[in-house]
Amino acid sequence: MGAVATLKRDLQVNWKGFYTRILKRHIGPFNQRQRWLSQTQYFGADELKSIQLELLQTIVRHAYETVPYYRDYMKREGFGPEDIQRLEDIRRFAILTKQDLKEAGSAFVSTRFNPRFMRTVHTGGTTGTPLPLRRDLRSIQHEHCFVRRQFDWAGVDLDDRCALLTWRRVAGANEHGRLYLYDAGMRELHLSTIHLSLEVVDMYVDAMRRYEVRALQAYPSAAYFLAKAMLAKGLRLPLKAVLTTSETLIAAHKQVIEEAFDCRVFDYYGSAERVCYIHTCEEGSYHIVPEYGLTELLAVDGPNEGCCRIVATGFWNMAMPLIRYDIGDLVVPRSGICACGRSFPMIERIIGREGTYIRTPSGRILGAMAIEYILARVLYAMYKMPILEAQIIQERDDLVALEYVGLSEFNAESERQLLKLLRDEIPSEMQVCVRRIEKMKQTTAGKYLSFACYEHH
Ligand SMILES: [Zn+2]
Repeated sequence: MGAVATLKRDLQVNWKGFYTRILKRHIGPFNQRQRWLSQTQYFGADELKSIQLELLQTIVRHAYETVPYYRDYMKREGFGPEDIQRLEDIRRFAILTKQDLKEAGSAFVSTRFNPRFMRTVHTGGTTGTPLPLRRDLRSIQHEHCFVRRQFDWAGVDLDDRCALLTWRRVAGANEHGRLYLYDAGMRELHLSTIHLSLEVVDMYVDAMRRYEVRALQAYPSAAYFLAKAMLAKGLRLPLKAVLTTSETLIAAHKQVIEEAFDCRVFDYYGSAERVCYIHTCEEGSYHIVPEYGLTELLAVDGPNEGCCRIVATGFWNMAMPLIRYDIGDLVVPRSGICACGRSFPMIERIIGREGTYIRTPSGRILGAMAIEYILARVLYAMYKMPILEAQIIQERDDLVALEYVGLSEFNAESERQLLKLLRDEIPSEMQVCVRRIEKMKQTTAGKYLSFACYEHH
């Protein structure tokens, strides 16, 4: 990229960054909502429920008055907003699926907003046609307040610079040169995820040092890659926190990330539909954020027995309210009270997509949890080996392949160990193979393919 094009790109990034900063922090409810959230986080369970009921009644009334789909639905089913008197009354609504949303399309969009003042994002990922989702500007401002409270919990201050290894496109896949962008408005250093390789590690770490970055926000696989490569080169970079999202965070990866950055990893889960928000606290527990939406955890049976699917109602996106939306992700619930002192409900783990499974030649199905365990064990054993990263792919009904990027010490003995490891973990009716590759295959969004990943934009 030439000097003029680089300058133009930098100007665009900064202009957009300052605009975003003004939108999110200066012209909206930021200060007021932040104060509210700093108080409500220590409310007891009953107080939180009454906040939820009030927000639920507001969104249901708004949906009834301005959203064609809900007005028709409630009239057909014979109830109105005044019938929502308790949180349990939400069950008067049927569960909404991605398919319903695709079929009804614009009938879910509130007539109160001018389309010019709404933002549209597309989701749907790898599973078919993209789904347009609308957001009003105020909901974007509220979202930022919830994100900021999560950063507070992680000990990251409002003005701390943050590096990001996520979805942002920094340069084309075949471009070289400077593979990061600094956005002075939001104080964010965007590192290119799709270019992440051993060759760029020094450049990324140098940039993070130069910009005095205090936190890293990344896909777990990307943060792990960077951390592992840094440790292999003898590099460390102390940060306040690493925040991960969008893929299942594996304990073995978390350990390596914490070592390289000498801080704790905070993991979070959000949905592009803006209905549910879950993140870890200082004690490492995953909490469902109750002021964000009403999250129902519904038990599933079959291969994923023991898990619950997330069905959620968002409180803040008035442009496209979704009531009892089935996100399609699985979690394992957890009971008890957290030592952090908050009464927010907890979950044990985020599993990810419900459709994730392996079917063996004999028809045996391994569900998301089983695969997660296999992956966790294989990856845990592998992180002691001279391997930079790896992914496991079911290539045929009877064949599982492990592709890996080896460090220079990787030899024939390591390969034998790796095969043994796979044979120890994968059902014996399946064949296994290992394949050394130079670079991981990536999706266009820069996320590594793995069994357990979910979408978040
Ligand atoms: Zn907690």
